[in-house]
Amino acid sequence: MSHIIELTLTELTRAIASKEVSALDATQAALDRIAGQDGGETGVGAFLQVFTDKALADARAIDDRIASDGAEAVGPLAGAPVALKDNMCLSYGKTTCASRILEEYESPFTGTAAQRVLDAGGVVVGKTNLDEFAMGSSCEHSALGATRNPWDRSRVPGGSSGGSAAAVAARMVPLALGSDTGGSIRQPAALCGVVGCKPTYGRVSRWGLVAFASSLDQIGPFTTDVKSTALAMNVICGFDHLDSTSADVETPDFLVEIDTPIDGLRIGVPAQARSDQNHPDVTKSFEAAIEQYKALGATIVDIELPHLDYGIAAYYIVAPAEASSNLARYDGVRYGHRAEIEADEDLVALFSKTRAEGFGAEVQRRIMLGTFALSSGYYDAYYNTALKTRRKIKQDFDNAFSDANGGPGVDVVMTPSSPEPAFKHGAKSDDLLAMYLADIYTVTANLAGIGGISIPGGFAEEDGVSLPVGVQLFCPAFGETTLLRAARMYESATEWNRMAPAM
Ligand code: GLN
Repeated sequence: MSHIIELTLTELTRAIASKEVSALDATQAALDRIAGQDGGETGVGAFLQVFTDKALADARAIDDRIASDGAEAVGPLAGAPVALKDNMCLSYGKTTCASRILEEYESPFTGTAAQRVLDAGGVVVGKTNLDEFAMGSSCEHSALGATRNPWDRSRVPGGSSGGSAAAVAARMVPLALGSDTGGSIRQPAALCGVVGCKPTYGRVSRWGLVAFASSLDQIGPFTTDVKSTALAMNVICGFDHLDSTSADVETPDFLVEIDTPIDGLRIGVPAQARSDQNHPDVTKSFEAAIEQYKALGATIVDIELPHLDYGIAAYYIVAPAEASSNLARYDGVRYGHRAEIEADEDLVALFSKTRAEGFGAEVQRRIMLGTFALSSGYYDAYYNTALKTRRKIKQDFDNAFSDANGGPGVDVVMTPSSPEPAFKHGAKSDDLLAMYLADIYTVTANLAGIGGISIPGGFAEEDGVSLPVGVQLFCPAFGETTLLRAARMYESATEWNRMAPAM
């Protein structure tokens, strides 16, 4: 058998269930890998916290339960090491959101998605780095540390869930959870060469996910293959009365038909996917994916999504508007950091000093942008216009997925995941718009509320280094069974997901 850390989540859980590997061995292997690769000046820096003792104790307890009741009774993740993005509440350790304002914050409870992982027998080994409050595309906005891309440590892992993506790419854990508001799972998955899935809005409970933009945020998994994504989705998806936007729909068993190719798969390709702004190797990988799907019997259909071009503009009104309201709670009274004030200063001084000290520049910028967009006199011009644009984008997708009224009736839509591979640390720090455009292909799924996945799709050459490139698929709302099967078809025909960075 291959070394433990080389196993996919499905392979590892199978090996643990058949007692070839113990939960303790699996956890120790993850902790050893983290100890060897994550720390120091040139380490990956995926983790903000590692729960060494707790994880080992949890693994021992799971081994005991496997010995007495069998792995099936423990759950589908029995003994698998898992990492959580540090914007997910956990009742132990800290929940920092990579922000100074929450640096010492201890959550009194565990969020639903994390609890489902624990209830399924997963062993949480640590919490991963992110852009502060999930605002960013490179992890460079983290106030608590830098994360380096395991393929080239001079480059970013993407963001905001860059720590989770890097942890899976570096084979520290076979499963990590992230959150995706505008691309924060799919873009880092692409830049790190792993699979990252943003489920349909409402599929996974947001209870215990620290809110950034509540109408866009969604939790999803990172794994090294699509089959393992299906396994993770089986665990984390499902209705939750604690989240009023959680969808009361049945969660299918995504594994049942995962290896059954879709007969007559119809893939829609919008013109924007072939933008001449894309890195040439992104274009090459995308065209190769099209040819691969054709060889697998799929039909490629040129479709029109005319409002896609306004995705970034609409997103950067809607997301900051919601953020400005969600982040109002960090006032120095209720959560986290509280500034010192002079005896003659008032409550407003407490609020503003606390927020000036606690929030980094990007978070402050988003709060100001959002407050401006929502302010009287500008509300209609900005916020309402963005909402109307959002509706148009959703209608474009509805139309593409429908065969009524002459619609093309495609099963999935395909684009590159990101216009370029991982960029150098600092490369976009002085150019906000360039950073925001990293999500040009991903934000629309959040605006439309549909599902999306990024899968490894080849490599780009930059300065003599091979960097992973992702291919993205979208499905209609709650169409993840088809999404995962379509992604798996490509994965089964290619080798990309089996390539790991040399470490
Ligand atoms: N990069 C985008 C942003 O900065 C998306 C972030 C996310 O999905 N959380 O807002």
